[in-house]
Amino acid sequence: MQNNITVNLGDKSYQIIIGTGEINYLAKFLAAKNYSKIIIITDKNVANLHLTKLVDSLSNSKIPTEFIITEPGESAKSFANLEKIAEEIISKEIDRKSLIIALGGGVIGDLSGFLASILLRGIDFIQIPTTLLAMVDSSIGGKTAINSRHGKNLIGSFYQPKLVICDLNFLLSLDSRQMKAGYAEIVKSALIKDKDFFEFLDRNLANKFLAKIDFEFLSIIISKSCQIKAEIVSMDETEQGSRMLLNFGHSFAHIFETETNYRDEILHGEAVSIGMVMAAKMSKNYQLITAEELNRIANHLKRAGLPTSSNQIRDNWNLENLSRHLYKDKKIENKSLTFILLKDLGNAIVKKSVPHSDFLRVINY
Ligand code: NAD
Repeated sequence: MQNNITVNLGDKSYQIIIGTGEINYLAKFLAAKNYSKIIIITDKNVANLHLTKLVDSLSNSKIPTEFIITEPGESAKSFANLEKIAEEIISKEIDRKSLIIALGGGVIGDLSGFLASILLRGIDFIQIPTTLLAMVDSSIGGKTAINSRHGKNLIGSFYQPKLVICDLNFLLSLDSRQMKAGYAEIVKSALIKDKDFFEFLDRNLANKFLAKIDFEFLSIIISKSCQIKAEIVSMDETEQGSRMLLNFGHSFAHIFETETNYRDEILHGEAVSIGMVMAAKMSKNYQLITAEELNRIANHLKRAGLPTSSNQIRDNWNLENLSRHLYKDKKIENKSLTFILLKDLGNAIVKKSVPHSDFLRVINY
């Protein structure tokens, strides 16, 4: 069982390989290249669980391989850690034919991608995502970044990987909270682009996602999400237009993540789940979707075990702080509020110039 998806970006095009045991595809890919050195970047958790599999898959390759193992968690995306790792990699005498492999979740992918984009003015990198969120979202599309003290992902670049390998076996060790958080991004893909996909998720959620690890089902939904993201990124690599649709639920999500300091109190996917319900609510307030459609979305996320209201995280939020965080969003232009809303299930639109009062109406919901 294997699926290949292409991100079409001219001479920057690349493949996403999805399936069980697909880590072994890496050797085939490398055999056709002439890399001088491989630097594998991962975190301690993933190193303990999965690094051997990656090393084994490279056992026939003659390319010298080095390892960087960093602390797990969002703090790895700091300036200090970037500097430390960059210096460490440079001390390993890399050249322009060196390759970085990111093995891990979105944190490792974002950090490694950014390092690849700046080291020696850019060296190749490959994404091997190990969380569901990274497989369906962060490993694709070339957004790389670290965090600034002023906010998340504010220092970064658009830099595409040469290959993405989603080996579903990695998901066997992922805890259910992280699985659900990744699932939120799959629901997002369906809601912005494909109503039939949402219906499919709605029909199969209980039996095929929540009940057990079903590789066939996971392969279908990961492939479908990657396909949707690949198509959008292929049309608009640097988010001048349609790529903004991928931010459905995210403007709301970011304010809750900022307020909780990107700690485990709320995971990114959980914040996106709450954000999608808020964006759906706003869509309903603008009479773009019906109350019934709003309820269908909220019920689906609830059945998936995801939070659908900010009250499930904290009883009280500081509204002033939340508003302040909103205006720091990278998507804000000239202080005018823009939200991604739904015109229908499977059809998202960009809504510009949203009055602050309409935002407050939803946030208080
Ligand atoms: P993460 O990378 O922090 O991983 C979550 C936790 O799971 C970590 O503790 C990690 O060590 C552990 N882990 C990873 N793989 C595992 C496995 N197979 N088994 C057991 N444990 C495992 O979190 P994430 O949710 O993957 O990514 C979040 C990051 O992604 C954020 O920094 C966010 O900004 C970024 N992101 C980027 C994009 C993008 O387009 N670049 C999109 C969405 C999110």
